[in-house]
Amino acid sequence: MSDRDYITQRHVHLTSPEELFRYYAPHRVEGYCRECPLYGRFWSCPPHPFSGRAYLSPFSQALLLAERITRNPAVPATRTLEEIFQEARRLLGEELRIFVEGKENLEVLIAGNCYHCPRCSREEGQPCRFPEKRRYSLESLGFLVSDMIQEKLALPLEWPSQGQEPAALVAVALVVAKDGEVLRELL
Ligand code: SF4
Repeated sequence: MSDRDYITQRHVHLTSPEELFRYYAPHRVEGYCRECPLYGRFWSCPPHPFSGRAYLSPFSQALLLAERITRNPAVPATRTLEEIFQEARRLLGEELRIFVEGKENLEVLIAGNCYHCPRCSREEGQPCRFPEKRRYSLESLGFLVSDMIQEKLALPLEWPSQGQEPAALVAVALVVAKDGEVLRELL
């Protein structure tokens, strides 16, 4: 068994951006984003000068990935599950960044804000420092991510209750492609 303090279980679903537009509710999702204290502080997040539909229009295929992250019962707990989740989602994003590197027909989106810099340059009113590494948030493009993964991956989201941490947290990403064949390498 791994000596890492967490275990990940990957779920994937090959689909099309058009199919994912069943979960497209830009006005509703932007309302949720406006309640976030980080609203407008990341270039990955709203407001954007384009719509999610316009952004995704060049792509014909999509691979939805979710990693269910749980504690490893064989390793003593020294970190919160939230800290573990942030590490796991960065590793997922980095794996996908390397996968799409040099492939012009692919793009990666993630759930949640971009994590590439310790502090996003948008807070200082400056342009994105690393546009090639910036990952737009799926929510920021108008998608109901929790509905999407529950219906497409049969993966329920779990939330803290009565001060208890959930049994699992889920990191989500989407790889979109103009030619879908390459996505099969991730299946
Ligand atoms: S790469 Fe850095 S500057 Fe650009 S969106 Fe991400 S955190 Fe912000």
